Amino acid sequence: MEPGNTPLVELRNLAPSGTRLFAKLEWHNPTGSVKDRPAWRMFMEDRKKGLFGSGTPLIEATSGNTGIGLARVALLEGNPMHICLPTTASKERRQMLEAYGAQLVLVEGGPNDAIAKARELVEAGEGHMCYQYGNIANPDAHEFGTALEIVRDWPLEQPPDHFLCAYGTGGTITGNSRGLKKVWSDMAVHSVEEDLSDTIGGMRNQGDPFQPPVADLGLVKDRHVVTRTVAEEKVAEIMKLEGHFVGTSSGAVIEAAQRELEQSGGTAVVVLPDAGWKYLSNAPWI
Ligand code: PMP
Repeated sequence: MEPGNTPLVELRNLAPSGTRLFAKLEWHNPTGSVKDRPAWRMFMEDRKKGLFGSGTPLIEATSGNTGIGLARVALLEGNPMHICLPTTASKERRQMLEAYGAQLVLVEGGPNDAIAKARELVEAGEGHMCYQYGNIANPDAHEFGTALEIVRDWPLEQPPDHFLCAYGTGGTITGNSRGLKKVWSDMAVHSVEEDLSDTIGGMRNQGDPFQPPVADLGLVKDRHVVTRTVAEEKVAEIMKLEGHFVGTSSGAVIEAAQRELEQSGGTAVVVLPDAGWKYLSNAPWI
């Protein structure tokens, strides 16, 4: 089964008074996150280009979700999968990767150290890296997938005033802003970024020394920085008010959307990257 065609729903209990808030629920993808989309597309495009063949091991550096998505495609297509993962990644993520048949290479430090390790393995001829941070298929999966679905399923006559999503590799924000602005040129795009002193798994800040080559924030109007503490509180509130069991970055996205709607009113559409299953050993669930 290919990723995509996730539900677009209204979050009536989270929209500030007089505003409307809609969300694309990306945990409805096969391995439970938005990253199934780029994982599938990178695998298929790189193989089509002849960058790897049947049986070639795949190597990737990831905080989890892309690795899980890639591990599934690799499993279905018969390629071994090696994942370089920061030791800080949650136990549930490690278990999930192993369930999908991936071999883990645990790296001390953060995502940047995992990237360096993966590069080292590729240079040593150990396999092919789709490299989500620099692969055009990452944003393309959104420009020609997620964005088209949002436009197709948008229920109101007027276009949304705001689009917000988390910034990690930049695939989601780059691809969706390209796709959506073609149709809704007046809509404002907002990036939701982690606070460098209180970080969120899967997310990034424009102040981070490493900026992914694939990220093009040229269409982004402004940025909202959210701390992990605030995002975790919002995760609990989303459960209570809407019954959606979301991951931490979704908490950050909703917090930012509420701030924006409170300030400027109107309608907003957001992407919620994953569900809470992988974060049960984190706040607010402990
Ligand atoms: N939230 C989560 C939970 C993620 O795994 C990711 C992927 N890094 C993101 C947000 C950000 O998405 P993107 O990589 O497309 O910027």
